[in-house]
Amino acid sequence: EQQRKKRPDWLRVKLPIGPEYAKVRKLVDTYKLHTICESGNCPNMGECWGAGTATFMILGNVCTRSCTFCAVATGRPNEYDTDEPRRVAEAILLMKVKHAVITSVNRDELKDRGAEIWYQTVRAVKDVSPTTTIETLIPDTKGNWDALTRMIEAGQEVVSHNMETVERLYRRVRPQARYERSLEQIRRTKDFGQRTKSGIMLGLGETVDEVLKAMDDLVEHGLDILTLGQYLQPTKMHHEVIEWIHPETFAMYKEEGLKRGLKYVESGPLVRSSYHAERHVNV
Ligand code: SF4
Ligand code: SF4
Repeated sequence: EQQRKKRPDWLRVKLPIGPEYAKVRKLVDTYKLHTICESGNCPNMGECWGAGTATFMILGNVCTRSCTFCAVATGRPNEYDTDEPRRVAEAILLMKVKHAVITSVNRDELKDRGAEIWYQTVRAVKDVSPTTTIETLIPDTKGNWDALTRMIEAGQEVVSHNMETVERLYRRVRPQARYERSLEQIRRTKDFGQRTKSGIMLGLGETVDEVLKAMDDLVEHGLDILTLGQYLQPTKMHHEVIEWIHPETFAMYKEEGLKRGLKYVESGPLVRSSYHAERHVNV
């Protein structure tokens, strides 16, 4: 509550809960699917779900990792549902989704990191709904490059992997991840021939110079699309909001990113990695 009161004006959004929202909600429940919109308490749910868009989370809703900003439960997942690709595809067809974003928890305990389910899901969507474009927001494969290849060879239009924060804050924010390894994953995704995308949350205590350095590193590793948004603390147990970043600062970052050669930068307080994803599918 305290946190909420302190929120600056530019972060106050209305949540229009219209009939489209109800329809999406019902489909997601009927098909026993998980969305990152709900798990992440995303402030754009009214807008996105109202427009018939949702970010599906596959491979269950329990994650082997414990990133300190993330609301997804940490534990040992037991879900491995080979029927999930079919259900995701059917829901996307029924929702008439033009651009689907698919993401997953980390499945570090699986030898293939969940890559086969990833591949099957993208294929299933393309089979039933060939005109739907797909962005896959994939996890860190922990250096398993065969798993990476399987995840990105299914014919999706965009492959995203979020850096989430600057290098110095990795140990506190993404304890099981490595900054260099995530950069390498993006490099390899680009070399494979994919359109690459990443996201960074701001307000975790990073400096402007550190953000610009992360941008330089990303450009150097073949990044095409970048999203920058304000971090919001999902519960008191999660990483604190250190700073509310001003909209003008977000605008400055956008300019800096484009100057550095990024093809598209979505930057603003309410930007999430899947926000307006349909706008940069063809860059
Ligand atoms: Fe869902 Fe992404 Fe929209 Fe948030 S921005 S509601 S996570 S689709
Ligand atoms: Fe959340 Fe992804 Fe980190 Fe798992 S790997 S805790 S789902 S951000």
